[in-house]
Amino acid sequence: MSASASSFLDAPRVLGVAVPTPLRRLFDYLPGPETPTGGWQPGLRVQVALGRRSVVGIVIECRATSEVALDRLKPIEACLDGSPLPADWLWLTRFTARYYQHPLGDTLQQALPVLLRQGRPLEPRTLERWRLSAQGQATQAADLGRARRQAELLELLRQHPRGLPTAAVTAQQFSRTQLTALHDKGLVDCLEEPRLASEPPRPTALLAEPALNLNREQAAALSTLHDGLDRYHPCLLQGVTGSGKTEVYLQLIEAVIQRGRQALILVPEIGLTPQTLERFRRRFRVPVVALHSGLTDHERLDAWLAAMSGRAPIIIGTRSAIFTPLAAPGVIIVDEEHDGSLKQQEGLRYHARDLAVARAHHHGIPIVLGSATPALESLAQARNGRYTHLRLTQRASRHPPAKLELIDLRGRPRQGGLIPSAIDAIRQTLAAGHQVLVFINRRGFAPTLACHACGWLAECDHCDARMTLHRQPPLLACHHCERQQPLPPACPECKSGDLRPLGAGTERTEESLAALFPEVPVHRIDRDSTRRKDAFGEVLAEIKRGEPSLLVGTQMLAKGHHLPHVTLVVVVNADAGLYASDFRALEHSAQLLTQVAGRAGRAAHPGRVLVQTLHSDDPHLRLLAERGYDALADALLEERRGAALPPFRFLALTRFESAREAEAMGLAKEAGEALREWLAARDNAVTCLGPVPAPMERRQNRYHVQLLLSGAQRSQLHEASAWLVAWLEACRDARRVRWSLDIDPQTL
Ligand code: ADP
Ligand code: ZN
Ligand code: ZN
Repeated sequence: MSASASSFLDAPRVLGVAVPTPLRRLFDYLPGPETPTGGWQPGLRVQVALGRRSVVGIVIECRATSEVALDRLKPIEACLDGSPLPADWLWLTRFTARYYQHPLGDTLQQALPVLLRQGRPLEPRTLERWRLSAQGQATQAADLGRARRQAELLELLRQHPRGLPTAAVTAQQFSRTQLTALHDKGLVDCLEEPRLASEPPRPTALLAEPALNLNREQAAALSTLHDGLDRYHPCLLQGVTGSGKTEVYLQLIEAVIQRGRQALILVPEIGLTPQTLERFRRRFRVPVVALHSGLTDHERLDAWLAAMSGRAPIIIGTRSAIFTPLAAPGVIIVDEEHDGSLKQQEGLRYHARDLAVARAHHHGIPIVLGSATPALESLAQARNGRYTHLRLTQRASRHPPAKLELIDLRGRPRQGGLIPSAIDAIRQTLAAGHQVLVFINRRGFAPTLACHACGWLAECDHCDARMTLHRQPPLLACHHCERQQPLPPACPECKSGDLRPLGAGTERTEESLAALFPEVPVHRIDRDSTRRKDAFGEVLAEIKRGEPSLLVGTQMLAKGHHLPHVTLVVVVNADAGLYASDFRALEHSAQLLTQVAGRAGRAAHPGRVLVQTLHSDDPHLRLLAERGYDALADALLEERRGAALPPFRFLALTRFESAREAEAMGLAKEAGEALREWLAARDNAVTCLGPVPAPMERRQNRYHVQLLLSGAQRSQLHEASAWLVAWLEACRDARRVRWSLDIDPQTL
């Protein structure tokens, strides 16, 4: 920004506008002939010509000059808003674009509801209500001559002196055209009512049900949170599953609303269930708006505007809800803060938890990160004192979370992936009238199909991956590119007919359990079985009735759900994460195992957790089983420190992909060399590793290569990655290779 740049100029000569393009710069326009009522300001949406298109952009800078000659600039076509988008929203999106080095135009687009991107007015939608005017009341149906339907509509409205909303009119088979025709004739008035009451909540009527009496730990946590309500106060609320974190959130939110402020709650995709929402709506008498992928564009805009105007004191949403504007921010809560779905893995690769922390800091409000198994990043901040560490170690029910019992798979016969001792434990639990959860993190029938004559394995033609065998319906599917194929009648290599499933997935385990325990229902819960809307909810309702039953599921079942009648959890195979190449794999599998284990024994009866493994003497697994998540997390943190990995180093990953292997690798090498030269010349201590092929090099027939930047100082990493991005944007070869930058990558 030049020295002359200022948003205070009464009449700027140039507007720097962010437009929806992948280019990392603003486009300059001349202001139109009409000045908006409040003057030109950053945050106003404008309609501008971009090439041959007309697009919606957002004014970012109001300046006196441009680097382009003024007579070559186009004037804007129209200013869309009377007042700008909120300043705090603009701050957050600009921060996001800068931090993640993503084009501002695209960042703004992603942070706006679709309808606002398209230029809809920044006003709450209203409910139209149609009522006869005085003239209409004096008019007889016969006066309308041949307009028979209009006459009938007139009569309908005459029966409703308070008027009817549009939906009620169209429900009677009248059209909007007929309504507007009467309106144009002056016979009908159109009244507009806002969709959400604009009454501010009255604290006396805030609670719809009484709050629970907190236990000692909950009360201590809440009291610490109460003390920090008026400042930036980052807290890690670490509480074992079922320890009542949600109850602490609810009581904290109550205090926030009582001060006339708003609460923004982020939950993982899997956590925003009707049950979660129901819990918030049951407690409070104020509007609770939910932002999730199931909303229509109109509903999303309504929710966004309700948050922006302050009409909605409670906003709950998944990752992208972090971009909701708030009139009076009071607290941000990130539930299950370790969850992977909080990070967007494509396009604008942001982490909603990290943005939430930045946003809370900007507003000067508290932020609560809640989890039973905090991310190592958050735990490190709690250990070094930057975050207040609040702990809940007791469950509300009597029973502490069950310990993991490791059972060795080696040399034991398996049925649907389960060994005899696990099957015995299942039998006993069912006989006692309880429920069993069998956790297996692979959907489908078996991880792959194998030829027993020659060793052939079904592989995807387009990816470096095996194809999963499905039985319902029977086919081979690649879970990486979604390609499907019919089952081969014989081995494509040796023509043998001896093809067999290798390993077990949810379908196979379900089938074996159904055969072993024909007298109890078996519910399978994975992405395939719950594709139909409501299917998941129906099964959960069935499970909560409490009849003895078997649940077979993937991580969909492992997280968040309160399954009071489950007393035994069996983990079919704990080994996937133990020896994976990704540096976070162990952390993630420890979190998942702990979450799954937390499903057992949450109500009246104690729980048991059996973990099948081929590596029962693995030191990490044993540490987790014997001393719990915290002990393992501390050990992992020490390993990360030794290996110079996050949270002790900062990383940025540049990914390259192309249909031609040599092209992706060629550009990555060139970029790496250029960057190393620049780093050396600038005395920048960032190291550049690679390029190396990505862990699954070929996906959908495209080759993936990556270059890793690692730095001890964020500022140096930022400078280096900014330089690299600029180099790639300017590089001609880069046009044939798709590349992207991932700041703080979750996977390498
Ligand atoms: P978390 O969010 O930590 O998993 P929840 O808040 O869902 O835990 O609480 C688990 C269960 O314990 C819920 O059924 C909740 O109603 C109950 N609960 C929480 N706090 C209390 C309390 N102080 N007294 C009684 N029951 C409680
Ligand atoms: Zn074969
Ligand atoms: Zn594939």
